[in-house]
Amino acid sequence: MNHQPFERWLLDGAALNPAQQAQLQKHLNSCKTCRRLSCNLPRMEQKLFATPPAQPRSGFAQRFQNSLAARQAARQRRQIWSMIFSGLSVGLAIYIYQILPDLSRLSIGTIFSSLINNILTLISSLLHLGQISNYVLMGIPPSIPLAVWVSLTTVFLILSLIWVLALGRILAPKGEKA
Ligand SMILES: [Zn+2]
Repeated sequence: MNHQPFERWLLDGAALNPAQQAQLQKHLNSCKTCRRLSCNLPRMEQKLFATPPAQPRSGFAQRFQNSLAARQAARQRRQIWSMIFSGLSVGLAIYIYQILPDLSRLSIGTIFSSLINNILTLISSLLHLGQISNYVLMGIPPSIPLAVWVSLTTVFLILSLIWVLALGRILAPKGEKA
């Protein structure tokens, strides 16, 4: 037996005109399958709507928020450290550039004690700067693009190289510098 369009009408729950109503009633009288569908449909719908939607496990939102905050904090720490290292490298490079002309006149001991003294000053001021930027970043969502950090890292690497080369010159045998 062909159950269409009656089955579709029943499932859709569409509004039927009087002629369709009559057709459907006639089919239901003769068709056990569609009659059963017609009887069961309201109960199925009732069950469907009575079922509460699936709930996430308790505390899911809180855990998600916490992990998000932790990830953001970790990212901010990485950004601050890379900022500190970049600043440190720039400072060292400037310092080396300044002392280079004096190298021949200073003893290695003087250079190193002055260098270490300057590095310590620089580190403490940069750590201070890091704390300040930490507070600043707390208030601002971390939206500094990756490109900025890549370029900062590149600058850091280049300056490290300069630093190593300059150190090589400082440590070179005294005879060459006189
Ligand atoms: Zn039927």
